[in-house]
Amino acid sequence: IDTKYKQLKVTPAMQQYYHFKKLYPSHILLFRIGDFYEMFNDDAITVSSLLHITLTSRGIKNTTSEIPMCGFPYHSADNYIEKLIRHGKTVAVCDQVESVQSKSKGSKVVKRQVVRVVTPGTVYEDRFLQPFQNNYLLSLYPSNESMIKKNNTTSRVKSKEEDMTNQKFILSWLDLSTGQFYLSQTTYDNLAGEIYRISPSEILLPKIFIDNQDITKMLKPYHVTIEDTSNYSLYNNHSMFKEAYDGIDDLQMVSDSFPNFSVEQLGVAGSILNYIYNTQLGRIPHVYQLQQYSQQQSMSIDYSTRNSLELTKTLQNTRKGSLLDVIDKTQTATGSRLLHYRLQSPSLSIEEINCRLNLLEYFHDNNDLVRETRRHLSRCHDLERCLQRVYIGKAGPRDLASIGSTLSSLSNLKSIISKHLSSKANRGHVGNKQLIQLVDSIADFDQLLNELSEALVDNPPIGTQDGGFIQQSYSKELKEFINTRDHSKELISGIQKKYRSSLSLSTLKIKYTQAIGHFFEILSTNRHKIPNHFIHVQTLMSHMRFKSSDLIEMEEKINRAQSQAYEIEIQIFQQLCDLIKEYGDKIKEASQILAQIDISTSLALISHERNYIRPKISEKPILNIIGGRHPTVEVAQMEKIGSFKQFITNDCHLDYDTNTGLILITGPNMGGKSTFIRQNALITIMAQMGCFVPADSAEIGISDSVFSRVGSSDDLANDRSTFMVEMVETASILKKATSRSLVIMDEVGRGTSTLDGAAIARAVIEHLYANKTRTLFATHHHELTSLASHMPNIQCYALAVKEEDDDLLFTHKVMPGISNKSYGIFCARLAGVPLSVIQRSQQILEQLENATKSIVVNNNKH
Ligand code: ADP
Repeated sequence: IDTKYKQLKVTPAMQQYYHFKKLYPSHILLFRIGDFYEMFNDDAITVSSLLHITLTSRGIKNTTSEIPMCGFPYHSADNYIEKLIRHGKTVAVCDQVESVQSKSKGSKVVKRQVVRVVTPGTVYEDRFLQPFQNNYLLSLYPSNESMIKKNNTTSRVKSKEEDMTNQKFILSWLDLSTGQFYLSQTTYDNLAGEIYRISPSEILLPKIFIDNQDITKMLKPYHVTIEDTSNYSLYNNHSMFKEAYDGIDDLQMVSDSFPNFSVEQLGVAGSILNYIYNTQLGRIPHVYQLQQYSQQQSMSIDYSTRNSLELTKTLQNTRKGSLLDVIDKTQTATGSRLLHYRLQSPSLSIEEINCRLNLLEYFHDNNDLVRETRRHLSRCHDLERCLQRVYIGKAGPRDLASIGSTLSSLSNLKSIISKHLSSKANRGHVGNKQLIQLVDSIADFDQLLNELSEALVDNPPIGTQDGGFIQQSYSKELKEFINTRDHSKELISGIQKKYRSSLSLSTLKIKYTQAIGHFFEILSTNRHKIPNHFIHVQTLMSHMRFKSSDLIEMEEKINRAQSQAYEIEIQIFQQLCDLIKEYGDKIKEASQILAQIDISTSLALISHERNYIRPKISEKPILNIIGGRHPTVEVAQMEKIGSFKQFITNDCHLDYDTNTGLILITGPNMGGKSTFIRQNALITIMAQMGCFVPADSAEIGISDSVFSRVGSSDDLANDRSTFMVEMVETASILKKATSRSLVIMDEVGRGTSTLDGAAIARAVIEHLYANKTRTLFATHHHELTSLASHMPNIQCYALAVKEEDDDLLFTHKVMPGISNKSYGIFCARLAGVPLSVIQRSQQILEQLENATKSIVVNNNKH
């Protein structure tokens, strides 16, 4: 770039541009020129096509100095930046940091500086954020670097599997908008699932992985930023801890302050701080203490299971229709984020789950309290993010007011709930103790609330720039200055009146222009009436203009009052922010309590509406569900106006001690096999989140992992056929499933020849059976059901259908037995395959059926 601009003899401003572009080569550089942000060269071409703005050019037309250019007004920059970030771009904002007037002498151009780098993982403004989702920046690094290096050089000799499977990874992730900061370690096998669970907005990837196809493929759905490998060493980034935390001065102190983490792990956390430091240009805004996230405390759910069970988004990539969507009726952003977290990490602790269930049950049994609590919750704001903006110096008056009103709603809630808990009828309730503990931990915010309500005006503005957010009554000085400022007109007209009479000049007027300020204006013919001490400022055709010392004084007083009033407001605002920071930890805790109350009441509400019940959580490896329903299919069916259909309930018993460890399910297409097996996995996940579940009764034995191999599509982007995807997922399940796991499998072995498929499916069943893994296995290979004859823990169930004349009626009822027909031809007819083809396939089927005599029992008369 340097040589290019030298050749072009570019202007000093463009030299400046190229200087900054060189510093931020991978970002779109917004270059402030006057009231516009301009972009040049490739940046201009990209931005103009992404944002549909006109592409023009700069320089002399049709010469080498002509370069593409586009731009937008600086005051609407936020809108454009937001769009660029949504398009996966990152932006460096280069501003003018001195005015044209104050430009230093001899300099041809105003000083400019990059004032911010905006990337998806480092934003904290509401406009870039989803209220119900954390916005994580994630960094990952192999825990033993030498291994990766060695394998890269010997990759031809070693199999791919050996290459990566033994590799461990350190993950660290931070949400700048809330300050939460975590660290964990995982294996290669679990890496994709862990990243999916965290769902980061941006991932920092060390350069050593650039050529690693496994990793780059895995990270394809994410915004990835490549970082220098040296940034991951604590030796290089320890000074970042000093920036982020008080009281840390050197490398040794970093290790001492975080005794639970290794130097290697702290290096990865440091890479996050380092990136924040660089994008926020030399500052690390407030972050909380680094926390260890332990995978041992939550259910392990791998990438494809999360995907196929549509936990947080559907296979079409929408939130609508996912499990999260149907169970999230929270009213606060913090509540919604906590629910999201619980769904991503269902608990393994019976005690913790029961605590959550107790709280939920209390609200469930007290509908009136739910209604009243939700009324207060609906007025609450995003406490966590408002607080974080205070910490990072980006809060406005409205954030402070939001903190105040939310804490005051919470205080009201505390007294309402406490009163409710103390009533005689409720004292014996199972949730009473937990709820008392919860509301009792809400701190006393009276002093802060008084201060905020006395200081802030009602409905204060978002930003501080125009003033007017502090009540005059809060400060005597402020009141005086505002008085002077607001009475300027009266004061000026008082002077005008005084001189009109003392100089006997009834036509004397006080006027104002931007250039001169306030002045007296008289007709030139009255010049002789003006005393000598008046200062002449201008002569016009027929008028003359003067100032007097008392007019100048008055004018200065007004100007001073204006700026001093503003300064006092800012000072008070700062004091309020400091006071809020003093309450920081208490506010953070309050926001967590608020979130828990929100989740409990919203789940109580839907449990009422949809007849969910409290599951019994058990240590035993069992699953006993009576009258279970599928949470999302049921809601979707209820929502379909006009075609309301009652969801058919089904039972599920899995327990190797009572001979039902593995269930084989057969039945026609569209019969409800996959709905049935999924609903049991979803109910298990909901129970371990601490939710009531859609069933008549449920006893859930804790599962430390749930696996689902249900339906799949080609992964053409990764060059894998349906069958290959299916086998990769099956392989991973077989390696990981234990006697504490729950596995659901749908039609394994479908994508190959019948014999091959049946053979694979059978071997998979035998493997899971030997491991005593609770399994629901749906299959079209009816012959597999013969396994039940010599494997006592296998039970066969089928989806019953009724054949009526030429029609089929799906009952969606799971019954003991085997279905010997797939009714594929019936489905083909439903799908609109031409009648001639249907009739011909019927003929062929009959021929084939005559050739191979079926030995299975037909249960379709159920
Ligand atoms: P299969 O896997 O046997 O082909 P699905 O589980 O995909 O069948 O079910 C097909 C459709 O039948 C579902 O989309 C759903 O609308 C409906 N369905 C399935 N199970 C039930 C049920 N228990 N109650 C009501 N409708 C059901």
